[in-house]
Amino acid sequence: MLKPGSLGWRPPGLETYYGGMMDKKKKFLGILFDCCNVYRRVYINKEKNAYEGNCPLCQREVRVLIGSEGTSSRFFTAR
Ligand SMILES: [Zn+2]
Repeated sequence: MLKPGSLGWRPPGLETYYGGMMDKKKKFLGILFDCCNVYRRVYINKEKNAYEGNCPLCQREVRVLIGSEGTSSRFFTAR
C-alpha cells in the first residue's frame, strides 16, 4: 500500500488515481484543470521536455515544461 505523504502534495477533495505512478516508465503528471475543475493525467511528450495534455471537457491544451526543478512537484493546477 502507498504510504500517506509519500507521493507529495495531493489536491484536496479530488478523486485521484495513483496506480500508474508505480510504473516509472510511464511518466506523467496529475493536472487539475481549473477551467473545468477536473483532474487528469498528462504524459511526457516525445521530446521529453514537457508534459502535454488536454482538458477532457473543453480540450484546452496544457503544457508543463520540465526544467531543473520542474519535475519535483507531481501535481499542477492549470489556470
Ligand atoms: Zn476545461
